[in-house]
Amino acid sequence: MTEITCKLLIIGAGPGGYICAIRAGQLGIDTVIVESTKLGGSCLNVGCIPSKAMIHVAEEFEKAAHAAAGKTPFGLTVSAPALDLKQAVAWKDGIVQRLNNGVAGLLRKAKVKILHGRARFRDGKTVTVETETGPRTVRAEAIVIATGSQPVELPFLPFGGNVISSTGALALTELPKRLVVVGGGYIGLELGTAFAKLGSKVTVVEAQDSILPLYDGELTAPVGKSLTALGVEVLTGAKALGLAAKGAGLRIEAADGKERTLAADKILVTVGRAPTTADLGLEELVLDMDGRFIRIGERCETSMRGIYAIGDVTGEPMLAHRAMAQGEMVAEIVAGERRAWDKAGIAAICFTDPEIVSAGLSPQEAKRAGFETKIGLFPFAANGRAMTRHGEQGFVRIVARADNHLVLGVQAVGQGVSELSTAFGLAIEMGARLEDVAGTIHAHPTLGEGFQEAALKALGHALHI
Ligand code: FAD
Ligand code: NAD
Repeated sequence: MTEITCKLLIIGAGPGGYICAIRAGQLGIDTVIVESTKLGGSCLNVGCIPSKAMIHVAEEFEKAAHAAAGKTPFGLTVSAPALDLKQAVAWKDGIVQRLNNGVAGLLRKAKVKILHGRARFRDGKTVTVETETGPRTVRAEAIVIATGSQPVELPFLPFGGNVISSTGALALTELPKRLVVVGGGYIGLELGTAFAKLGSKVTVVEAQDSILPLYDGELTAPVGKSLTALGVEVLTGAKALGLAAKGAGLRIEAADGKERTLAADKILVTVGRAPTTADLGLEELVLDMDGRFIRIGERCETSMRGIYAIGDVTGEPMLAHRAMAQGEMVAEIVAGERRAWDKAGIAAICFTDPEIVSAGLSPQEAKRAGFETKIGLFPFAANGRAMTRHGEQGFVRIVARADNHLVLGVQAVGQGVSELSTAFGLAIEMGARLEDVAGTIHAHPTLGEGFQEAALKALGHALHI
């Protein structure tokens, strides 16, 4: 068995792992990255990118369908649209392939050695990788666990047949007539909305009392309204029980305690993601855990010297940009730089229709943290750009300290607000005050003016309401 020695070994080439490897390469660290499936991880292959591609297809289809039905207020008519779902999926796969090649190119440019195969710890410095040409041993001074996550499977609703995960949903080449989604969180609502726009009859079964329980009611209300307009039935406080006899659908316990069967051609289960740690040989190590996730400190260090963990395997928030930022930091730590996690916030976006963005603290979180706050909310109904896009629903909300006006959080809900996350994140990271946001000239006409107006509102002198 050939042995490889290196300074840094990274297990998993998702956004956490590949960014860590690229940065390490830039810093001249002798780096090996191991990947058992495809470069880019869940995000690039079965997550962020393919889901946003299919959401785009659904949006375009819905626009055309609206126009065909004479529903545009500006008089556009077209003939009834038709979608070749096979071609749409092939288009999505093409984007994924281009990005896979891009990641491979970036890793090569950074002089990172890529090893294809499954890694398993033998001890804290040694890993065996099962490659196509046999097992390889890799010894490293530092090891980063970046093995990510996978869909949670419900024991009474195992994946297979008509029960699918997000990965299965993104590969469907035939539109299910009736789709039942179990779990009204990020994935369930992003994909559920897309399928509803494409023409599926969608029912969402959510165990909690509200959809997207992570966000407050003010932010989720416009999403709920739009799901209703799309014909999506949302059953909150409902529990999935199992498959109905002869695969006729899903048995559930509704909020009133009564059992019901929901007819379904496909059942999409999106009840969270679990860390990928099986067969990794963690039993050879002595790692402190947080439940099933690997516990880390502010430098992403685990309880074992020289072993780091980043990304989804370390728990919530399971977001690609968090994994990337952690990966970059760990590479710099391995290179000897003094770094620690000091980010003021991680913006999160839910790509529903309308989209939701949240950066920093919500009003409730700020209150719980003991802050007296000033809050400004500016509705898109008073924003010219929103009107010209026919997207007046939603708002921007800013949360600041009452005493010194430091911005603690910014949230928005509305069509196209995902792109505002950058401005929100920057303001919080730079320690902006309400006066800084209010005093920055925001180009007109843009949705971003809503951010400035929300700050003005919190200061008591909004201009357009
Ligand atoms: P992963 O991307 O999961 O990568 C881990 C890699 O490790 C995988 O490639 C895996 O094959 C490999 N691996 C595992 N075990 C081994 C082993 N033993 N040996 C070798 N290799 C191994 N996040 C966002 O921020 N924005 C979004 O819009 C978004 N949309 C999403 C949509 C969907 C449908 C899903 C499922 C997820 C979405 N996410 C989104 C979440 C995002 O995909 C994850 O947060 C991100 O991929 C985590 O990166 P990671 O590097 O920690 O792990
Ligand atoms: P999630 O945690 O967002 O939502 C899961 C939902 O399922 C919750 O609302 C929960 O109450 C519900 N649930 C749990 N068990 C249930 C049951 N037995 N019956 C009915 N409902 C049940 O999880 P997800 O949607 O699977 O997404 C996984 C992770 O992926 C998220 O944590 C998120 O960080 C990440 N993600 C991010 C994005 C994005 O950034 N836009 C998109 C997709 C996924």
